[in-house]
Amino acid sequence: KNGGIGMDSTAPVLSVNQLDYKYEQQNVLEGVTFSIQKGSFAGLVGPNGSGKTTLIQLILGLLRLQEGNIELFGTPIQKFKNWNKISFVSQKANTFNRGFPATVYEVVAMGLTGNIGYFRFFNRLHKKQIYQAIENVGMSDYVHRNIGDLSGGQQQRVFIARSLVSQPELLILDEPTVGVDTENVERFYKMLARLNKQEGITLLLVSHDIGTITSYVTDLLCLNKTIHYHGNPSEFYQKSDEEISKFYGHSMHAISHDH
Ligand code: ADP
Repeated sequence: KNGGIGMDSTAPVLSVNQLDYKYEQQNVLEGVTFSIQKGSFAGLVGPNGSGKTTLIQLILGLLRLQEGNIELFGTPIQKFKNWNKISFVSQKANTFNRGFPATVYEVVAMGLTGNIGYFRFFNRLHKKQIYQAIENVGMSDYVHRNIGDLSGGQQQRVFIARSLVSQPELLILDEPTVGVDTENVERFYKMLARLNKQEGITLLLVSHDIGTITSYVTDLLCLNKTIHYHGNPSEFYQKSDEEISKFYGHSMHAISHDH
């Protein structure tokens, strides 16, 4: 039954091959090639303007491919249909004003309505999935609280729960710690590492901040128009400052003290 296209369970979750992209005359991506295996916690880092957003939009099928190709779960993106396997959380789309009339439970439930249709009643299994997703991001104590009354970091956890409720296999997070207080950033990454290890969700986290994430990710990808490094984060740090600044255009010291 599961023998159709895209059911190759040994294929990388994501594979990008020789990707080029340009806006008008500006080349933004050149020869971008990498793959992410199932179970990885990948951190894609690069300074502002390095092409991170463009790459993610291509992976999500929001921009048309120009040169090169992308495979999702072993299927070329042009033929890929299982978009429910992929969830995307962007910092930009997510802010509720103080007093917004929805509880944490209701916001997380929105992650299911896309699958079952609005105005349908949730059955017991749906409710269980909602509570489980809330528990997985450590927000069980806030289930009936108003979303608008929570801190930026707490809201961000709720948005992740909303994206988890549909049980994705790949979760892509774009700058998820923007708006999270510095003292909660570590907690936030710990929560992601737990989701990755215990729930087996493959994570691709996009950040301009190479500082904290390197202690949590299994794969570090450094992008600046092309992939300058892909590998173990600790090996990255063993490189000389000079070599690293080639990737970034400024020193590691400057990067890790950006924020
Ligand atoms: P990042 O997310 O790493 O900051 P982006 O992918 O947003 O990088 O941008 C890469 C480069 O492409 C930047 O120089 C940016 O100004 C340019 N760019 C981004 N979006 C557009 C667009 N829609 N039209 C023209 N240039 C763009």
